[in-house]
Amino acid sequence: MLLEDFATLTLGSNSLRQLSMMFSLKVAAAIAPFLGLVASQAAAPIANTTNPFGPLAFTAPGAFPTSIYKEYYNNPTATSAQVQPVITDPVLLKTYPNSLTNPATIPKNDTADPHPLPPKASDSLLLAHAIEQILSIASSAVFGSDTCTRCQAGLEVAKFLAMAAPSEGPALAVAICNHFNFNSDCFTEFGPLGLGSVVTQVVANADIGGLDGQMLCQNFLGLCPLPPVSQLNLTSWFAKPKPQAALAPKKPSGERLKVLHLSDLHLDARYANGAESDCTGGQCCRENNFNPSSPNKTLVPAPRFGAYGCDAPIALVLSALESIPALTGTQKAGFDFTVFTGDLVSHDPDNQLSRDYVTYAETVLYDLLKRTLGSGPVYAVLGNHDSYNQAQDAPHTLGGTLASQFSWNYDHLALLWQHEGWLPEAAVALARAHYSAYMVQRQDGLRIITLNTDMWYKANYFNYINMSQPDNSGMLRFLTDELQAAEDAGEKAWVMGHVLSGWDGSNPLGNPTNLFYQIVDRFSNTITAIFFGHTHEDQFEIFYANNATSISESTAQNVAWIAPSITPLTNLNSGFRVYETFEILDAHTWKTDVNAFAALDDQLQNGPTFAYEYNTRETYGANITWGPNDPLNATWWHKVTEQMEANPALVSTFTTLQGKSSVRTTSCTGDCVTAKICYMRSGSVPIAFQNCQSGFGSVQ
Ligand SMILES: [Zn+2]
Repeated sequence: MLLEDFATLTLGSNSLRQLSMMFSLKVAAAIAPFLGLVASQAAAPIANTTNPFGPLAFTAPGAFPTSIYKEYYNNPTATSAQVQPVITDPVLLKTYPNSLTNPATIPKNDTADPHPLPPKASDSLLLAHAIEQILSIASSAVFGSDTCTRCQAGLEVAKFLAMAAPSEGPALAVAICNHFNFNSDCFTEFGPLGLGSVVTQVVANADIGGLDGQMLCQNFLGLCPLPPVSQLNLTSWFAKPKPQAALAPKKPSGERLKVLHLSDLHLDARYANGAESDCTGGQCCRENNFNPSSPNKTLVPAPRFGAYGCDAPIALVLSALESIPALTGTQKAGFDFTVFTGDLVSHDPDNQLSRDYVTYAETVLYDLLKRTLGSGPVYAVLGNHDSYNQAQDAPHTLGGTLASQFSWNYDHLALLWQHEGWLPEAAVALARAHYSAYMVQRQDGLRIITLNTDMWYKANYFNYINMSQPDNSGMLRFLTDELQAAEDAGEKAWVMGHVLSGWDGSNPLGNPTNLFYQIVDRFSNTITAIFFGHTHEDQFEIFYANNATSISESTAQNVAWIAPSITPLTNLNSGFRVYETFEILDAHTWKTDVNAFAALDDQLQNGPTFAYEYNTRETYGANITWGPNDPLNATWWHKVTEQMEANPALVSTFTTLQGKSSVRTTSCTGDCVTAKICYMRSGSVPIAFQNCQSGFGSVQ
């Protein structure tokens, strides 16, 4: 290309002045003759017109001097292309190929030369760098006060360590726990024999950069704000639309079935009479525990029948089981059936638990229920304490062998229930395949559908995988399909689980309970009652139409009954309930005063006294017009909450009963009254969080 063309192309014809101004004088002088070729105005006159060394000018030959190279790839005398000499490297002793410089073969990339990478790090080196990087992120000024981003960024590092070197996952968890002082005994809590394997599985599988990471940081570390529930897409969730007209309520046949509701037995098989019942951490009433303020002398010796700070000794469990038939008039005929809403195992820390400790409690207690409650079947669900590790249950979507890592428990439970004669074969097979959840089709036309509510429990780490999907485990798919089958058959269903779906919203997760609420709405004509436990307290939740956008008597559709516990933990009396059913026509609750147990220690004449505590209809319905055979359904319970709004004394009554008339139950006044009525009207986490003031859920 000629310089003239170059200048024209790049600068444009009017830019030559500017170009010359930009150049230094020296450069300008050097190129002046060339500029002169194209400049229309005359340049300064050239001073020297003679060359002292030779001729004034030399014109090079037009042909390429072919003798300069020995060999060419192309014809050096042709003018259609630049010559391509054959070049041999005297150092590398090789000849460069024509393709290297051939204008027609310019490469896309270099496939011949090495592109060096760092060496593969050993597992221990990965661990060391993961720790270093997380600490670096934690102290980096870039994140400012954004603890959430800092936490998620740190967890990303953990995720890739968990995938590349899973055996180092527990060590990372311990190191980070120690550094940030998350726990007083990080090795026990998160080491390879603690929750280390669980958290490693979870961070390896979770979407750390998305909702999963945000929720892990929110729930377990308090470093992220609580995100709103995800948009629920129900487009293809239900097979059929809700039937337009409510199915006619079944008229009571005149015969009332008697159903026992037991919950939260929490047998402490390691209970030590006389041990410290007033400890400050871990399980009290244990030989290995004491009150730090009095390490050498027991302050409050554990009574033989139990204490407010302890789980139930076997003596208390037997006292309750001996009392139930006598108090409920079922010595001869037994109950038609029993619902047990979970938690058999004591509240030991994880390091004191084992599969054996769990299966022991399952074996002992189901055998006792079988032998003391008569012939009616017991329909039981798995509680969060009935697992090892505690509260952990993995979704099938984990895949591989991890998908079935808790099958030992589902198999044991299902086969025990079969052994006791409570479940038919079809239900046993369902329980083994569906996280211990099953459906029983009873002869009387009622279907019992159970849930493993660990699948919505906050403390189950596995729920933090794929959180934007409200039913990652498939448990609510199972529930929906069973309810559809019940509706198609024109039968009614009871739904049972352990962890309640709403109340103050402090126990379950938002997305799955939001979906559960919509399922209850869709099948409100099929579900006649819902049963939960877990809080150890006597409570209830009302479910309304249209996600509770309008809360009124006319929109109230379903009720969940939350049963009192047998365990006194914590600061509660021990109790149980009987329903007259199977739309709940009446409910009767009994309790025993744990405060009186110490006085029973020095004699064998008398054990605990269980006494009738209250009749639900009479206690709450005095001012409600309601037929004697009308069920205590959602409409009635909504009227109860309206009575409570008009008369806060009724909330005081509720609060007393919530703690089973424990001397330790504190009163509920002011904001507590409003909050508690609000919890009664909250069947899901998002409804509780949206509508209610937090902090008044428990009387413990
Ligand atoms: Zn529980």
